Amino acid sequence: MRTCSSISISRRVFRFAPSPNGFLHLGHVFSALRNYELAQECGGRFLLRIEDIDLSRARPEFEAAIYEDLAWLGLDWERPVRKQSEHFADYFRALERLEAPGLLYPCVCTRADIARAAPKDGPRDPDGAPLYPGTCRNKPRPPIREVLRTGGVALRLDMGKALKLAPPLAWREFGLGDVAARPEQWGDVVLARKDTPASYHLAVVVDDALQGVTDVVRGKDLFHATSVHRLLQQLLGLPAPDYRHHELLLDARGEKLSKSRESKTLRELRAEGVAPLEARALAGRATL
Ligand code: GLU
Repeated sequence: MRTCSSISISRRVFRFAPSPNGFLHLGHVFSALRNYELAQECGGRFLLRIEDIDLSRARPEFEAAIYEDLAWLGLDWERPVRKQSEHFADYFRALERLEAPGLLYPCVCTRADIARAAPKDGPRDPDGAPLYPGTCRNKPRPPIREVLRTGGVALRLDMGKALKLAPPLAWREFGLGDVAARPEQWGDVVLARKDTPASYHLAVVVDDALQGVTDVVRGKDLFHATSVHRLLQQLLGLPAPDYRHHELLLDARGEKLSKSRESKTLRELRAEGVAPLEARALAGRATL
């Protein structure tokens, strides 16, 4: 199975892209290490990206802790680090590109509106949320510049229209080969949120391209999101990286590690006297 292509003439580029919404736990360490080690094996580059478009949740102390924790583990990365909150202009340009063929529309619906309007046994996206029922799809579509200036309104992708413009798409997944993208499973995804003029899907696709990322190595929980990413790459004329979605670390109860489940953070382990190599081994040793 290909890890580093021996015929590749350009250097592979890997990235670890945490959101500074909490302290890193072993699941993050596992992902960061996979990227770091693969970059080393390939003689490639390792980038760190701070995914902080969610301005209400991102906190400077969590960002500082990411640098400190990764350095403590013995990782090194290229500087300057790209921080998404400093690049809203790039995301706006991508939105304008999607606006030109009429692929975006403003949406004022709240989560509760969607829950009310979506049929009870209707289709759900791969994360289990009801698909957007299209309430705002056929309303007037003012220029997105005005919509974003006013604020408090989201921008959604008109998925039906987008699919008409794109050929059937696939991405290259390590260990699986070509995987057919099924963006229709997600319906009219949000590309600019009410509270911040971008969304995860948009920012990740724009940044991976701008940073020349060739290999996206991240948790399996984002496997299905790749369908949306592949569609956006196609619509925006961006290259498609190769993907490798790794298993998620599980805790003793067999549950996914996450900040919300209060899994131990790296700094807690450190405070208990765990050494960097031990922490690396702990992250590598779990059920995978
Ligand atoms: N920022 C995302 C997270 O912390 C990762 C995004 C990605 O790797 O594509 O879950």
